[in-house]
Amino acid sequence: MTILPAAQRFRAARRVVIKLGSAQIVDKEGVANAPVLAAIAADIAALVKEGKQVVIVSSGAVALGRNALGLPSGVLKLEEKQAAAAAGQTRLMRAWEDALSAHSAPVAQALLTIDDTEIRRRWLNARATLNTLIDAGAIPIVNENDTVATEEIRYGDNDRLAARVAQMIGADILVLLSDIDGLYSADPRKDMSAHHIPVVEDLSADIMAMGGSANAVAGMGSGGMATKLEAARIALTAGCSTVIAMGREENGTGPISTMINGGLCTWFVSNISPETARRQWLSGNLNPSGVITIDDGAVKALLSGKSLLHAGVTQVTGRFERGDAIEIRASDDKIVARGISAYSNDDAQRIMGRQSADIEAVLGYKGRPALIHRDDLVLIAAQPTLTTIED
Ligand code: GLU
Repeated sequence: MTILPAAQRFRAARRVVIKLGSAQIVDKEGVANAPVLAAIAADIAALVKEGKQVVIVSSGAVALGRNALGLPSGVLKLEEKQAAAAAGQTRLMRAWEDALSAHSAPVAQALLTIDDTEIRRRWLNARATLNTLIDAGAIPIVNENDTVATEEIRYGDNDRLAARVAQMIGADILVLLSDIDGLYSADPRKDMSAHHIPVVEDLSADIMAMGGSANAVAGMGSGGMATKLEAARIALTAGCSTVIAMGREENGTGPISTMINGGLCTWFVSNISPETARRQWLSGNLNPSGVITIDDGAVKALLSGKSLLHAGVTQVTGRFERGDAIEIRASDDKIVARGISAYSNDDAQRIMGRQSADIEAVLGYKGRPALIHRDDLVLIAAQPTLTTIED
């Protein structure tokens, strides 16, 4: 595999997720670190100017809120941590808003819980919202919804949350900004022989094991190197390359510019694109719970890359919910595609053959226009025989 410099990787990327830990966001006084945020905002503005879409995953709510509420130092009780997050989240957003307003980039807060990334129905909702924000030119600032997510239902670290977000929006690069400039063979603060690893092409057991030693000590945040490696693993399965770099500002220059200009970092390189990963996932691992039969006009639309609309559906079989995988067949029963349904079988049946504009009148709620969005659809190779082609 060719080893590309960071600049080339960024040039080729369309969507980038940038994750910052509490140690980057909050200074020693317990307030938002304005110079770091300003430098990162300038980095983000430069990426946006090049036509990239950026999502930020930002920690720091608990650390900012702890200070604002005057909570004791040391380990907080769960309810104190949740209260701190509630107080800190508004301060965190204000800090980002201030930093990004210098570049006229509107921000939008998205608080997610683990269910939003793990339950496919909720995942569809969260993805639709993030995509809408991105398309509207906003910069979503994501954090875990710490105020409601209790221990057993929370990520607890934003590294893995960021990887799920990268997966959700089909990002090409996940940037994990940290207090270390990448992966080392051992903890560089303790072991003089530790060497820096610039590129990881295979996330082997040996590499995963390094998470236990190098940078195992967490600063203000919760994730050490182990959760970063786990995040890289999740991102790689989605065709997203991951880079770990030092999240600091130097003379006003942000960490992403530093990295693009050759600064030390570790790349975990994906050898497939997010698009290929998505197709592999859709065509491979999902067990279809139902079958939708469509007319020839809809087949033609799918083959030309369009979403599956209700109007083209002639039959619905099986039992499925929104978020379940279904198979799409032509009138000759040949499989045309597989995809994730945006509707249950009951609702799909009720609205079948109707126009998207009728959805609300028929179902009583304003559903998504397509039964299967084209992003959730993969065509199955064999071309069906079309009896009639409508133009
Ligand atoms: N969600 C937490 C916060 O905003 C941080 C989690 C982490 O440290 O990764 O404070």
